Amino acid sequence: MERRNEIARVTELHWKTLLLAGLLPILGCQPEEAVRISSFNGERAFAEVVALVKFSPRDAGTPEGWKAANHILERLEGFGVEAEIDTFVDMTPEGEKTMHNVIGQIPGKGGKWIILGSHFDTMPGIENFQGANDSGSSTGVLLELARQLSESGMVPEVGILFAFFDGEEGIAGYGENDGLHGSRRLAEQLVLTGRKESIKAMILLDMVGDKDLNFIIPVNSSRSLVQEVLEAAHATGHRNLFSLSPRITIIDDHVPFLEVGIPSINIIDFRYGSKPGLNDYWHTKDDRLENISSESLEAVGEITLQLLKQLAFSANTK
Ligand SMILES: [Zn+2]
Repeated sequence: MERRNEIARVTELHWKTLLLAGLLPILGCQPEEAVRISSFNGERAFAEVVALVKFSPRDAGTPEGWKAANHILERLEGFGVEAEIDTFVDMTPEGEKTMHNVIGQIPGKGGKWIILGSHFDTMPGIENFQGANDSGSSTGVLLELARQLSESGMVPEVGILFAFFDGEEGIAGYGENDGLHGSRRLAEQLVLTGRKESIKAMILLDMVGDKDLNFIIPVNSSRSLVQEVLEAAHATGHRNLFSLSPRITIIDDHVPFLEVGIPSINIIDFRYGSKPGLNDYWHTKDDRLENISSESLEAVGEITLQLLKQLAFSANTK
């Protein structure tokens, strides 16, 4: 019954379902090596969310969206991360819109890359919308990770691409021209430029700031990465935050990468509400700073950092 309810809720809230069986490649496991970075500062990540939500609502194709993109660019450059804005025009149910992906990179020793992704746009049409959790939380965690990694001066074995996507939110529902605009754009670019083969994995964070954090990894995530995430969660003492669902599939920015054959995973807590199990804050004016916590951002940051140790900083990575 519980699962049935979850599925009903997901459908009701416009997460569309998709079966991607057979599209999930397998990566080899790599042993972990010690890395000098040992902790993640959730307060700093929270401060990044506070700074971002000053540009709200930051809907795709709006002046505030453009300002938010520039803000992210300035933060990355301020951390010493090489970064750029990729501006593109895409069709939406409301006609063509100009959107902006922000891409930062910390090159590795070899030619391989891991993409860490988050969208930064907000769901249109919600009065007084902050989008502190969706999409501020994941953007804040990624920015703080970028700062920490860049300022450590460490060169990873595998390069890290920080991808801040515009246009994740669909206006009428997710479809070919509605939602996932930024992630589709980057996945297409990787294919067209022949860089796809250099991407080892795509790790997406979305809605990671709920005070009552519970991640259900959707079935449309690559199995090898599910194992890596669970390992990272265990190693950081956060294994209790995760469960797996054989039935819940989620359309999010990891899907365009899965579709072109890049191993991908979505770390998302899609039940964001006033009580455990409810999702009544999602896409409402209650998605505000007071309804996310630095403790949750810290837990997610620690897990992601550990994941990078396993996948990007190990001398045995391929
Ligand atoms: Zn959303």
